[in-house]
Amino acid sequence: MQDRYDIIVIGSGLGGMTAARRLAAVGRKVLLVEQHSQLGGLATWFKRKGHVFDVALHGFPVGMKKSLRKYWGKDFAERVVQVQSIRFENPQYKIGSTFTTPDFTAKLVEHFKVPAATVQAFFAAITAMNYYDDQQETTREFFNRFFPGRTDVWRFLMEPITYANGSTLDEPAISYGIVFGNFMSEGVYTFLGGTDLMLDMMRRELRHAGVDVELSALAEKIVVEGGKVRAVVVNGREIGCRAAVSNGSLVRTILDWTGAEHFRPEFIAGLRQVRLSTSSCQVYIGIKPGEKLPHIGDLIFTSTYPEFDTDALLSRQITSRTYSVYYPEIRPGTDRYSIVASMNARYQDWAGLDPAAYKAAKAAMVEETLQALEGSYVPNIRSIADWTEAATPRTFERYTLHSAGATFGTKFEGLKFSTELSKQIPGLFHTGSVGIIMSGWLGAANYGVITASEVEKQFAAGLA
Ligand SMILES: Cc1cc2nc3c(=O)[nH]c(=O)nc-3n(C[C@H](O)[C@H](O)[C@H](O)COP(=O)(O)OP(=O)(O)OC[C@H]3O[C@@H](n4cnc5c(N)ncnc54)[C@H](O)[C@@H]3O)c2cc1C
Repeated sequence: MQDRYDIIVIGSGLGGMTAARRLAAVGRKVLLVEQHSQLGGLATWFKRKGHVFDVALHGFPVGMKKSLRKYWGKDFAERVVQVQSIRFENPQYKIGSTFTTPDFTAKLVEHFKVPAATVQAFFAAITAMNYYDDQQETTREFFNRFFPGRTDVWRFLMEPITYANGSTLDEPAISYGIVFGNFMSEGVYTFLGGTDLMLDMMRRELRHAGVDVELSALAEKIVVEGGKVRAVVVNGREIGCRAAVSNGSLVRTILDWTGAEHFRPEFIAGLRQVRLSTSSCQVYIGIKPGEKLPHIGDLIFTSTYPEFDTDALLSRQITSRTYSVYYPEIRPGTDRYSIVASMNARYQDWAGLDPAAYKAAKAAMVEETLQALEGSYVPNIRSIADWTEAATPRTFERYTLHSAGATFGTKFEGLKFSTELSKQIPGLFHTGSVGIIMSGWLGAANYGVITASEVEKQFAAGLA
């Protein structure tokens, strides 16, 4: 780590790494600091007893292939492969889908018996949605317009989105439409080789581009002087810079690391109204070497709750789980199988538990997941599994410093504050999960590119 850089990127999520690489590619001197001992942020992995667990690799939209090719290189894009088997199982239906517009259309018409003209009108309305349009209509009202009272259809169209970004029926329909349009039109994709390979390739690419990467390096303070960013304090050492790009929590970037006193009061008042996204729980299950999982599908959205219900999805009384099943094919050359069960969760439900209650709640979550798998999908799961472990909103908070372990940053209103940072304080930028468009792997990576170009614009204008 040197004493001065053009830009210090704080955080190595997909947004931070992509911004760092872009800025280095145009000749900037870039430092990337990550407080954790590993790259990736939420898009990370860990190893236990020979098992590699992917935390956030369930699937991303096809657009990721183009973004990886454009911003990271063709070796990355060539590894993007389609997730083959996606299933839904709940009391209202058991059905498979390829997550493409033709398949959704066919399922809505043939399985759910919705008139073809209604389905066409629904897709036309999704296509016509524009982020800058009136955002008064809620997703519930939107669904009621096309599928009144059809909670089975609502569930089919909504549950994966709620899993993806925690959005509810009572949020603006636009927050649904944009994600549905991006995510559920041309299939779901994954990275062949897993998150571990992708991050290793990214680490090499960053070094190759000349980015200085420092792990276990906490940015404690963004130093503002004369109304501009002057330095970042990293592990107690002040490092000079013209710009700081924070990939960490938007709210903490402003309030904790920069300080409210540097912003206009109305900006801070507005920021305090921004809602965080919800969090997640996960159960990781590793299968003993030599044992196999039957082919039960790649991505299975399951629920035992009678109808779609966001509260039930978030509750600690778990009724809905999304299973990502990893077969050896995802990591060519290995013979390992694993399952990651993901649940939406509320931080408050976990935050107040004392150590004993917390440990017991995690153990119960693992046990209930094993029971659910045993009952419906893998009868011998207990005898073939040799590792189980749970993550909660507290785990996500601890490893990423996101307030309340928010899995997707903030709700849609956060985007305005994220993009306005550099207008408040020249040289201060944010990138990473906020709102609707900028969340998930694709959104975060693309936002990194957008932020990098904003930094360049401000440099060119001589403002930072
Ligand atoms: C359980 C789960 C499953 C998911 N599944 C999917 C999926 O299937 N598909 C999909 O597209 N998306 C998925 N996501 C969401 C996706 O992973 C995230 O939206 C995306 O990776 C976020 O990237 P980001 O750029 O916002 O940065 P983040 O991943 O939020 O990373 C921010 C980084 O900044 C670091 N940092 C923060 N503060 C500091 C500081 N002060 N100093 C130094 N470093 C700091 C953190 O340690 C972290 O590494 C999932 C998320 C979770 C939690």
